[in-house]
Amino acid sequence: MQLVWLRNDLRLDDNPALYFACQQAIDNKDSVLVVYIASPKQWRAHNESPRKLGLIQETLRCLQSTLAGLGIPLELLETDSFIDIPRVLSTYCLKHEISKLHFNREIPLNEQRRDKAVQAEISAIDVAVKCYADDRIVHRNLLSKQGAVYRVFTPWYKSWVQELFNALPKVLPSPEAVSSPVTTTKEISLSGAEVFREDIWLSNEVDVLALLERFCKRKAAGYEASRDYPAIAGTSVISPYLAIGSLSARRCFHQLVFSCAEQGVHIGEAIGHIWTRELAWRDFYRYLMLNYEHISRGENFKTEPLARAWRVDTEAQDAWKKGQTGFPIIDAAMRQLLQTGWMHNRLRMLVASFFCKLLCLDWREGERFFMEQLLDGDFASNNGGWQWSSSTGCDASPWFRIFNPTTQSEKFDKDGEFIKRFVPELAALDAKSIHCPSPEQRLALDYPDPIVDYKEARQQALDFFKV
Ligand code: FAD
Repeated sequence: MQLVWLRNDLRLDDNPALYFACQQAIDNKDSVLVVYIASPKQWRAHNESPRKLGLIQETLRCLQSTLAGLGIPLELLETDSFIDIPRVLSTYCLKHEISKLHFNREIPLNEQRRDKAVQAEISAIDVAVKCYADDRIVHRNLLSKQGAVYRVFTPWYKSWVQELFNALPKVLPSPEAVSSPVTTTKEISLSGAEVFREDIWLSNEVDVLALLERFCKRKAAGYEASRDYPAIAGTSVISPYLAIGSLSARRCFHQLVFSCAEQGVHIGEAIGHIWTRELAWRDFYRYLMLNYEHISRGENFKTEPLARAWRVDTEAQDAWKKGQTGFPIIDAAMRQLLQTGWMHNRLRMLVASFFCKLLCLDWREGERFFMEQLLDGDFASNNGGWQWSSSTGCDASPWFRIFNPTTQSEKFDKDGEFIKRFVPELAALDAKSIHCPSPEQRLALDYPDPIVDYKEARQQALDFFKV
């Protein structure tokens, strides 16, 4: 009997662990069982958001039904934390006479330690274990000509692109039906999961793949021009599905290559496409996490100490969290996060810069709040984004780069369309004053005064970051 342990790979398409387990079952006239292990205490320690758990729960339910159609039961096992997983899995393997355990690799440190412990415990009961690489487009650990691990995006990206020119990464099809009889399985219910917003998000893999296809066919060509404007639906909004693995990153790249080919665009252009470059950032943050352990421990990527300690200002931090800073674009962005669990990339950069630079607050606090709220919370990308914004990270934004929320708002939300959507109390203002309402307008509309004076806060940040 083959066992697949699903983790951050909740899909049939391009899932190596599931695909090869099914192949081996077919070849050996064997059966396949699939498990997912809930670890609520561990999830809380990792700040996984109830929203993301809601998406995982709904996706698992869909997957359970699709897998049942292939003759494969999906069962939920429960533990408190990662530490119990080796025991739970070995008991399961003995009970079901499992001959081989298959799973796809996860990169953060706790997950790697958990997997090593599982390998040791499972091998000790004579069950084979096979771990596959699935989460990145390029899996080879790219090194510089001197054999060093990269620390900067651009040279790493050049060699990443070269890998794609050398050989396109393969994608696997969904597995074929397996001949085992389906045992009855209980409906999946995850503790701490929030009700799933099916009006905005997708839980069925077929729908997720259709969303990807629509983006590549209709929007990828205009992506570069529209991706910075939050009022326009110019980006793919596939991040929640990549975060839980209901979509494979390699499939995203392949779909773009395929759609470009259909439109007569050369493959080289798909490889060099600005959207592929964004997918590369995702790969890059995973590459860093794999190679630099201290990232997983919550430390600054740059090891030299900061000149000063971060400020502590609970009142300012709370205003930021609630979308009540008095800076309309910042408040609109934070309210988008609170209401939908997602935020546009340009706005993530703005609110993170506001938090770390203008308020001089510790990036880890912002990182944690994002994880607690985001539907697409992803340790590597979130940590990478926060460290980039706070200038503590690898290849980070330079310390003196401080976004001005008002001029950024005028540039990227010219007519205030996005602000009006999420800060309705400002909806009646004209396109000029909406970016920075006058004191009288604020009073009349019950909208707060700015919590900091931009010029003063900028100077304070420059003094703070200057070494
Ligand atoms: P698209 O623009 O369509 O890009 C396609 C995919 O490429 C994305 O889904 C994502 O997987 C990847 N991608 C795009 N931009 C980036 C980037 N800058 N870094 C890494 N990957 C990228 N992304 C997350 O998936 N989870 C997070 O928790 C997360 N936290 C972030 C925190 C901060 C402070 C910042 C600045 C960025 C963060 N990002 C995070 C990256 C980025 O904002 C989102 O991936 C993007 O907004 C998702 O929208 P999309 O799917 O429409 O992206």
